Amino acid sequence: MENLFENCKLCPRRCGADRTSGKTGFCRMPDYPLVNLIKLHFGEEPVISGSSGSGTVFFEGCSLGCVFCQNYSISRGPTGFGKKMDPSSLSGAYLDLQEQGANNINLVTPMHFAPAVAESIALAKNAGLKIPVAVNCSGYDLVSTVRLFDGLVDIYMPDMKYFSPKFSSEYSNAPDYFGVCCSAIDEMVRQAGEFTLGSDGLLKKGVIVRHLILPGGLFDSKHIIDYLTSRYENKICISLMSQYTPMPSCTGRLAQKPSKRTCDTLADYLASKGQTNAFIQEYESSGNEMIPDFNS
Ligand code: SF4
Repeated sequence: MENLFENCKLCPRRCGADRTSGKTGFCRMPDYPLVNLIKLHFGEEPVISGSSGSGTVFFEGCSLGCVFCQNYSISRGPTGFGKKMDPSSLSGAYLDLQEQGANNINLVTPMHFAPAVAESIALAKNAGLKIPVAVNCSGYDLVSTVRLFDGLVDIYMPDMKYFSPKFSSEYSNAPDYFGVCCSAIDEMVRQAGEFTLGSDGLLKKGVIVRHLILPGGLFDSKHIIDYLTSRYENKICISLMSQYTPMPSCTGRLAQKPSKRTCDTLADYLASKGQTNAFIQEYESSGNEMIPDFNS
């Protein structure tokens, strides 16, 4: 069978790095999953975290690399603290989280390890994993890679970060972000179907598209709301996030938090589109509060 870590084209960067021989590409990651943290996490949307927490696995590395990344301490890894985990050990970790009462398994930024992570989910399901499995990702994902999870993943939580190529180029060096993200979300919706809550109020299947409001991004955010509401209506959920917190390295426009007025305007705009499947984050939320203690 083809080893997708050889001549790696798992993400839109299509570096072609032979990760099986120790080379790395843009994501800087080896050919095995590096896991920074596994824990019950309470910082997701209420339909994901619930009261007993989301069984979250934080992978190191990212193929998007936003300059303002709120998880930069692990996204630009390897940190040196990451644990090498094969599909079998990952599968065991999911079953442990289920045992601890997790509402779901929440795989954070797994796409650059997709073949191994897909195998781990299949192993866990065969060994008795019953809770939903969620993939939490940047939205800068290839349809071919998302398809590796077909039949294995119940919930997708992609970001849709940018509409304009100006922002996606400047902040993530990804001028093609919007088109790539649209195709990826189409595939995620095809796989996961309509946003469906159980009688316990928790999400069982479907797609939550997250949009982090950026400073100076009012019109970009409106275009994203226009696109998502016209294409999917309430078949998906839209999560409007106002937790942007400038990282120490952020300069210029990115050095400040978006204003409360901008966030309120966007919340009203989303409501005006008839979007009832929506989460609006409290303006007072800070990215720092949402970020787990990595590297400890
Ligand atoms: S997953 Fe990593 S190595 Fe592979 S194409 Fe993307 S950035 Fe390059």
